[in-house]
Formats: sequence, structure tokens, C-alpha cells
Amino acid sequence: MTDTSSPASFDCILVGGGLVGLTLAVALAAHELSVAVIERADPEAHLAPGFDGRASAIASASARMLRALGLGEVLDAQGCAIRAIRVTDGHYVAGADRWRVHPQVLHFDSAEVDPAEPLGIMVENRALRAALLAKVRSEPLVTLLAPASIRHVLRGPNGALVELSGGQVLRAPLVLACDGRRSSLRAEAGIRLAEWQYDGTAIVTMLAHEKPHDHVASELFYSDGPFAQLPMTDFVDASGAVRHRSALVWTVRRKDAEGVLALSPRAIAHEAEKRMGGFLGKLELIAPVASYPLNLQHAERYWAERLILVGDAAHGIHPIAGQGLNMGLRDVAALTEVLSESARLGLDLGHPDVGRRYERWRRSDNSSVAFATDTLARLFGVRGRLATEVRATGLGIVNRIAPLRRGFMTVARGEAGDLPPLLKGEIG
Ligand SMILES: Cc1cc2nc3c(=O)[nH]c(=O)nc-3n(C[C@H](O)[C@H](O)[C@H](O)COP(=O)(O)OP(=O)(O)OC[C@H]3O[C@@H](n4cnc5c(N)ncnc54)[C@H](O)[C@@H]3O)c2cc1C
Repeated sequence: MTDTSSPASFDCILVGGGLVGLTLAVALAAHELSVAVIERADPEAHLAPGFDGRASAIASASARMLRALGLGEVLDAQGCAIRAIRVTDGHYVAGADRWRVHPQVLHFDSAEVDPAEPLGIMVENRALRAALLAKVRSEPLVTLLAPASIRHVLRGPNGALVELSGGQVLRAPLVLACDGRRSSLRAEAGIRLAEWQYDGTAIVTMLAHEKPHDHVASELFYSDGPFAQLPMTDFVDASGAVRHRSALVWTVRRKDAEGVLALSPRAIAHEAEKRMGGFLGKLELIAPVASYPLNLQHAERYWAERLILVGDAAHGIHPIAGQGLNMGLRDVAALTEVLSESARLGLDLGHPDVGRRYERWRRSDNSSVAFATDTLARLFGVRGRLATEVRATGLGIVNRIAPLRRGFMTVARGEAGDLPPLLKGEIG
């Protein structure tokens, strides 16, 4: 350390200003805890259209938390409600009018559980990031240091010190690792990962389409991977025409990814049209194409001395059910509750009991979602006619059992288990 004479003090030092880290900073500040956020990238570069072309399905419990934190406007102005989801083996695509009645299509409808709340809200990551950044910048209890890089982190019995490459030194009782799947804080703390790779790469882009999506998302399973169409808000194109729009997450085998990425936008749109059986009519690509190799990883523990892992730093899953960010947001809600309660009681925020309590609260939910998405990814990856028939029969059975269908929807909306106040829309 070069200058420890007058380190700036905070309740927490948070490393990683991604969607999870920024939400956590806003949540902690709403509970009167001061936070320094260290982000290595330039926030303006993070807002550029090419940086992250993904959109996320925000589950209803996560949406309630974002609203409670003052971020409802981005969901209302730029979010698109998902009112229904249909799931089918790609082979059974048979035209929009036959979806609901087809025996081998699983249909989830928000009206069955709560007509007032959609199953989720689709929002562009870029829009959510911009709203979070604006909120963080207006919050006196949050100090955003970006772009900034870390030279040293010292964690010891009496506290944590973080030195930035410019020489600035920060002090806090606790460091929060929100630094994503390749978390260097996790590695430095020697926390091991359970990890495996999928034979899949997600190809992500945005489509304009001829027919309206009617707020329905479709998950079509093909043997080379799931193909998901997710409804987005309409947009006005360069000629002033209002067009319909959906996000596309198309998983292909790793060996095929390069070939797909080399295709022209028109050829990709044509392939997508074929896979969708034309139910949204003519398609056109309206955003750059990005690719994400897929893996599953889960940290063996969520904490070490004066360090807590949050979001993708703790767990990364297959995007098949759009749950990764929602898991991270549920971590945020639970951790905020644990930290704010500890602060109210005057306890040391870096005490191991804080990490233990957070981990007890979050590990089983994260493990179950990771297990469920892994099972789905494997189940739908098996090739052959027999496997297709078994899957189709399974979908048909689940579709006929209403309580089972409602159970799936409750989990997907993030409503299952012991919900912290933020997920109920309350600031504790
Ligand atoms: C194709 C695809 C589609 C998805 N769709 C959905 C969906 O619909 N719904 C859903 O819930 N989830 C979805 N996910 C998952 C979701 O995108 C992630 O779970 C989520 O973005 C993780 O956020 P994070 O903030 O934890 O990590 P990240 O987004 O990885 O952010 C980490 C941040 O830390 C910064 N950082 C890293 N190291 C350092 C360092 N040493 N110093 C300072 N800063 C550092 C990085 O610059 C970055 O800003 C999807 C994922 C994929 C791949």
C-alpha cells in the first residue's frame, strides 16, 4: 500500500458495477449504508449499443424490488410485459392459432396465478444499466469510482483496505464481490467453483417482425439447443413506421457458433423464421449479433474473511429460463436485509455470522434454480425421435396438471420461499 494515512471510510466497498452491483449499491444506500462502488470499465462505454445487446426477463418479485428502489420508470417506459410463455419441442410448431390447443405445447398464462402481474418484464440491459447509473450518481451515500482498477485488497481481522491503481485507499469492514463470473476477488480468496461447460453458445440479437407478439414469449426446443423469442416494446424505424420487436436468444452447438456468426443478418433472420415456423411473419435483424459460450458454475461458499460474493460471482447458470440476473437480484434483497439489520444492531458488518446468514438464506434457492435449468438444458439436448416423444408427452402432462403449472410459474416469478422485504416491494 502506498498511502494509508487517510483512507476514505465506507460501510461497504463493492467491486463490480454490473446490473447486480449497481442494484445492491442503490439498495444499501436506501437502508442508510454508505458504499464505494469500484468498476473497472468506463460507465459510458457500458451504455454504448454494442456493449451488451441483451435484454433480461425481470421476474415479478425482482420488479417489485426495483420499483421500491425508485427504478419503476424504466420498467414502465421501456419494459414489455410477458403475459404468457409457450414451451414446445421445435417439431410441434404449428401456427399461432393452434398453440393453445396443441396437446404437446406447454402454455403458462399469467392470468392463472395473478392477472394483475405479468410473468415477467422484458427490458434491455442497456436501459436498466442507464437507469441504475443515474440513480447511483444521484445518491449521496454511493461513491462511484469508474473507470478504476484495484492494485491491492487487504482483508484482515480489523477490516478491509482496498488500494486503487491511482493510489487512493478505501477502508470498510466488508468487501462485496459483484465482479461477475470470472471474479478475481473470489479467486484471490481461494474459493473454489463447481463448474462445467455446456456444448452450447447463445446467439443474441433483436428482431423486428411482421405480426404482433401479443406479449407471448416462446421457448422452442431443438436438439442443438433452445430457441427463445422474447417480446419487447414496439419501436419506430428510420422511416417513421411503428414496428413489432422481440429479443432472440438462440443456442447453437459450440462448433456451429462461428458459422452462424459468419452469416449475413438476412441469412440469420431467414434461419430464425424457419425455426419459428413463421408465426411472427417476416423477420428482420435490427441489432448487432453477440455470442455467449454457456457454462454452469457455483461457488463452494459465498463468503470468506470480510468478503461476500453476490450475483454471477457466486453463481452462473444456463440462460434457458432467464433466471441468472433474477437470482442475483434475490441475493441483493437478502444481503441488504442481513446487512441493514446487522447495522441497526451495531454489529460488525464483516463478522462471519453475516456471511453465514446470507449464505444460508440464498444457497438453496440458487442451487435449486441451477439444478432445474441444468436438467432442462440436458433433457432438451438429447437427440432422437424417442427423446422427442418423451419430452412432448412430458410437456403435455405438465400442461394438463394446473397446480404443477402454477407451481412452475410461482418459482419463475421469484415468489417462492422466504422473501426478504425488498422482494415484497418494501424498504425494511
Ligand atoms: C444470453 C444470455 C441471456 C440472459 N438472459 C437473462 C434473462 O432473461 N434474465 C435473467 O435473469 N438473467 C439472464 N441472463 C443472466 C444475466 O445476464 C447475468 O446473470 C447478470 O448479468 C449478472 O450480473 P452481474 O452484475 O452479477 O455480473 P456482470 O454483468 O458480469 O457484471 C460484473 C461487473 O464487474 C466488473 N468487474 C469485473 N472485475 C472487476 C474488477 N476486478 N474491478 C472492478 N470491476 C470489475 C465488470 O466490468 C462488470 O461491470 C442471461 C445471460 C446470458 C448469457
